[in-house]
Amino acid sequence: MTVRVRIAPSPTGSVHLGLCRTALFNWAFARGRGGQFLLRIEDTDTERNTQESLDAILEGLAWLGLDWDEGPDRGGPHEPYFQSQRRASYDAVLEQLFEQGLVYRDFSTPEQQEAWRAEQEARKQRLAYRGDDRDLAPEESARRADAGEPFAVRFRIPDGSTAFTDLIRGEVSIPHDEVDDWVLVRRGGGMPTYNFTVVCDDLAMGITHVFRGEEHLVNTPKQLLLYAALGAETPAFGHLPLLLGKDRRKLSKRSGDTSLGDYRANGYPREAIQNFLALQGWALDGETEVFSLQQLVEAFEPGAVSKAGAVFDPDKFRWLAGEYLRQEEPAALAEHCLPFVADAGLATEEAVRERWDWFVRACGAVQERLTLYADAADWLRPYFVGASELELDPKALKGARKHADRLSHLAAFAAWLEARPEEPAAERAAAAKEWLGEQGIKIGALFQPLRCALTGQPGGPDLFEIIDLLGREEALGRIRGAASGPLAED
Ligand code: GLU
Repeated sequence: MTVRVRIAPSPTGSVHLGLCRTALFNWAFARGRGGQFLLRIEDTDTERNTQESLDAILEGLAWLGLDWDEGPDRGGPHEPYFQSQRRASYDAVLEQLFEQGLVYRDFSTPEQQEAWRAEQEARKQRLAYRGDDRDLAPEESARRADAGEPFAVRFRIPDGSTAFTDLIRGEVSIPHDEVDDWVLVRRGGGMPTYNFTVVCDDLAMGITHVFRGEEHLVNTPKQLLLYAALGAETPAFGHLPLLLGKDRRKLSKRSGDTSLGDYRANGYPREAIQNFLALQGWALDGETEVFSLQQLVEAFEPGAVSKAGAVFDPDKFRWLAGEYLRQEEPAALAEHCLPFVADAGLATEEAVRERWDWFVRACGAVQERLTLYADAADWLRPYFVGASELELDPKALKGARKHADRLSHLAAFAAWLEARPEEPAAERAAAAKEWLGEQGIKIGALFQPLRCALTGQPGGPDLFEIIDLLGREEALGRIRGAASGPLAED
């Protein structure tokens, strides 16, 4: 049997991390088993669907590296991959269900429904809904429908219970007296409901395994009963644990950013996002936290997914981001930092590309300091702005001002630097140390004020690397300018 899995997002908002995690586990399951991963769009909520959201899903999942074998943009043997275009297939199944007496028309009015609900509440009970029209003679039901009376179509839940083996949660059994006669088509017609269409589509597309969020566990018995009614083989189900915020409530905006777009915009490396999502309910070996997509594919087993909710830890996410970012080759790092540098208004992308080698070197020089690509804008700022626009970090300034002889040291160093030939940073550094020894100047007494004069930052690259990146003339200007700036004050 070829594994066929899918995700079925609705294009109604931003690309939530929960969707990304579901996609990742489905994708990994398929890729690890020579199977196929499908993308189907549940665009039945015409009021809330947007093209923007659809584009974000397609672009976002592709960016995340979760390629699909069949889908709305690339077609496949089971087109169309938009639910809104599959209406005829749902109608055909519905007709079959009517013929077999497995569904019925419920003519009750919204007021009657409301009254039933109120009565349940008053009695503090929650009986499963069974429509009064459940046992109407088929001819009578058809006659009233033909006469134009509005109705909903409901599934006739049989007595008994439904049991299945969830690939993650193990044995699950749900007594039918907890399951409503659920609605396949709402009163007044229109597009059929999720529980109905999802089964039609999963069947038509030969889906073998369904991994989806735990919030769908309540839907699974309804869907299993429909499979049974249709005499169809059911896919295996696995319900992924909820993503929780630190407050142990379902992850939402309250607990911070929840959409893929937010994390991309903040400069999280793609690999860190993949890795972090994989850790939401799954672990490679209980020890290794940094692992690749390939390792996930090779090791992913649904049985090892935890049943307990996955608590989303933003600090860990940042930590992982830094781990990946600091491993990058400087050229790749520079590519990733470029948009953030441009967005911060330090230079246009074109201007940076004209000095690409320099920029790669600059990114490499600050790499150790970065956690997110976006951090590059702050750390690289001193290399793009003029001396007058340098922002002096209060800590850096305080540290520099501790040294009483700072101005004379800086002046002496400027004279020394000017007299040196152009030379590689390492040679200049070695010569400077020797010169400091001869002058009897303590390293810190020059280096702290020097760093402050050159970048205003409390830390960062090696000072001679900084001088190289700035260029000797610019560096000299900053060092000499310090005599008349905040560094000169006490
Ligand atoms: N549109 C549903 C969701 O994204 C699909 C659920 C399912 O996979 O069956 O939650």
